[in-house]
This record gives sequence, structure tokens and C-alpha cells, in this order.
Amino acid sequence: MNYTKQIQEIAAKLFAEDKIDVFVGYRMNGFDDNQVPVLITGVNEIPKLVFTDKSVFNLVNYLKPDHTRRKRVGLVVKGCDSRSLNLMLTESQVKRENLYVVGIACEGVTDDAGQKMQNCTDCMVPDAVVFDEMLGTPSGSQPAAYKANADVTALAAMPLPERAAYFEEVFANCIRCNACRHSCPLCYCAKCCIDQETSTLYNGANTTSAAFHALMTWSLHLAGRCVDCRNCEKACPSHLPLHLLHKQNESVIYENFQEHLAGVISEDRGAFYKYSLKDPDDFIM
Ligand code: SF4
Ligand code: SF4
Ligand code: SF4
Ligand code: SF4
Repeated sequence: MNYTKQIQEIAAKLFAEDKIDVFVGYRMNGFDDNQVPVLITGVNEIPKLVFTDKSVFNLVNYLKPDHTRRKRVGLVVKGCDSRSLNLMLTESQVKRENLYVVGIACEGVTDDAGQKMQNCTDCMVPDAVVFDEMLGTPSGSQPAAYKANADVTALAAMPLPERAAYFEEVFANCIRCNACRHSCPLCYCAKCCIDQETSTLYNGANTTSAAFHALMTWSLHLAGRCVDCRNCEKACPSHLPLHLLHKQNESVIYENFQEHLAGVISEDRGAFYKYSLKDPDDFIM
């Protein structure tokens, strides 16, 4: 997968026609063969743009207020990224008319060791679902059959005390840096409730119980919204397996709420906004 030339040509055309103020893409990080996001504001910077299977980050995160709001933006989205864009559009966080979206029919991205990332192996929606033009050959319009995450399935098979001990260790290694939250395109709240909470369980304390409460609150705010881009996991300096929280929520919601999968359908407000007589109610007292 290499669309470097095409993306450079598209960005050059958009600047030449004065259709954008900024183009959000990827550039080499300057140290090894990995890439980082780049915000290009003029044609002289276009040669920096690249796109290969190392273009791992979700660039939709740069549509949040402190980056590119009120600007006309061109950006590149893979299938998972485009689902988060769909949600940002549905949740009125960004205006479609301000965007020029280059969609990718994605073949998967690779980690630092050159292995295909786990979310790509399991990917149900590789083709961008929002785009002005598409690069690559789309695999088809219907999402693949739902596949439960192997790590979540393995954890579910563990006896409860063992599972609890595992998560105790995960939460104990969280340093409360909030990089996970800041790297998620769908965590755009100007004032996050986790930061507003003043109880001793939350307030910046670096304890296992504080991390537990913060991360569980965060993952529940992403329930039915997480698109499995793994931006959060890639940002985590402690390399915590955050996908376990999100994929568990995703599978419960998929099974119980009309096979809901976040951001696949435009203007679908998500599992918790829909009501059906078939919705499970066994948890209601
Ligand atoms: S999860 Fe799917 S769309 Fe996202 S990078 Fe992997 S293969 Fe591409
Ligand atoms: S929670 Fe993580 S994997 Fe889910 S959408 Fe946000 S950044 Fe992506
Ligand atoms: S954790 Fe919840 S309140 Fe905080 S930024 Fe994310 S969605 Fe907003
Ligand atoms: S990025 Fe990792 S270490 Fe930082 S708050 Fe999130 S889970 Fe904890």
C-alpha cells in the first residue's frame, strides 16, 4: 500500500484551487521508518507527505478544536479513521463542507516490528465510509462478519480472581498521563468529566484505584463509539492493552443492540440513542 504520489498530487491541487487552508497527512519521523502526523499549510511542504502501511495514526484527532477548527481541511482517512469522522459529523463537532476527505481502501497498517496490527487482522470495515475521493480498490460495501477479539475471548475464559489480578496489574501501570484520552478523536469535550471529578478516587492521584476509575469512565464514554483505530493504545507510554476495555464493550453492544458497529452508517447516533422493543432489559431493576 503506497499512495504517496497520489496524496501529494491531491494536496497540491487543493492548495492551487484555494480549497483548503491545511492538509493533514503523514510524514517520516526522521529517525526510523515510522511516520508521524503532519499539518501542511502550503505547497512547499507537500514533498513531506507520505502514505504507506506505516501510516498508522488516526488523523481525525486533528479535527478537534485546538488544532484545525474553523479552517478548511484536507485529510486522509482509512476505514477505521473514517468511522470516527462519521461520528464527529453526527455529533456536530465538525462541518462536512469544511473538509476534503481522501478515503483509503485500506490493506492494513503495521506496527514497529513490521507485523500487521491486530485491529487490521480483525478489521470489518477497511474501506473509508466518508470520502470525496477514494484511493485503492474497495473491498465491498458490507462490513465483514463480526469476529470477537481473541484477547477478550481469552480473558473471558480466565477464572475471575485471575482476571481481576490481570487488570489490577494493568491499572497499576497507568501513570495517569491522559495521553489515551487526548489521542482519541471522540474525546473532544472542552472539560472532561474525569478532570472535573474532585473525589480522592480521581483527582490526579496516581493510584491503582484512581486509574481504574478514570479508565473505566473513559472506556464507558467510548462504548458504542470506539472505532478500534488504536490511536489511544499507540499513545500510551506504558503500553497498556486498552483495546481490551473497548473491544469488550464493542462485543457486548454488538450482541445486544441490533448489531451496532460505531460510525459505519452516516448520521447513526449510536446504540444508546436508539430504542427497540428487542433491547435487553434484564439489567433494569
Ligand atoms: S483497522 Fe482496518 S481500516 Fe483501520 S488501519 Fe487496520 S485495516 Fe485499515
Ligand atoms: S478509544 Fe482508542 S481505539 Fe477507540 S476510537 Fe478512541 S482512540 Fe480509537
Ligand atoms: S472521557 Fe468522556 S468526558 Fe472525557 S473527553 Fe472523553 S467523552 Fe468527554
Ligand atoms: S495513556 Fe496509558 S498511562 Fe497514560 S493515562 Fe492512558 S492508560 Fe494511563
